[in-house]
Amino acid sequence: MLKKQDFSYSFDGSKCDECGGKCCVGESGYIWISASEIKKLSEFLGLKTDEFIKKYLFKTQNKYSIKEKEYNGGYACIFFDEQNKNCGVYEYRPSQCRTFPFWDYFKQNLEELQAECIGVKF
Ligand code: SF4
Repeated sequence: MLKKQDFSYSFDGSKCDECGGKCCVGESGYIWISASEIKKLSEFLGLKTDEFIKKYLFKTQNKYSIKEKEYNGGYACIFFDEQNKNCGVYEYRPSQCRTFPFWDYFKQNLEELQAECIGVKF
C-alpha cells in the first residue's frame, strides 16, 4: 500500500490487474510527456525522435501530449493495450502516469478519483 505525504488516501497497486486500465481510458485528457521521456520512449520503440513525435504526440500549450484513440465510446491513450487492458509501454510511461493517483488535482476531486480507481483507499 503506497502513501504519500499530504494526501488523504493510499493506493494499492495490486488492484491494477482487476481494473481494466480506467486511468488510461475514458474522457479525453492531456497526457504530458517531457523531452527526456520522449527520448527514452522513442528509443524503446526503435523510432527516431521526430518520427516518434509525428506518430504519437501532439503539441499544445508549448508542450507535448500523447495522442488518444477512440475506445469503448470514449477515448484511450494511444499506448493503451486493448487486449491486455494495461499500458503497452509501462516501463517507459511518463511521469504523469507514474505518479497517478497522487495528483494535486485529486485533492479537490476525491469523488472523481474514487470512481476511477479501485486501488485507492480512504
Ligand atoms: S502511457 Fe501508458 S500509463 Fe500512461 S496513459 Fe498511456 S497507456 Fe496509460
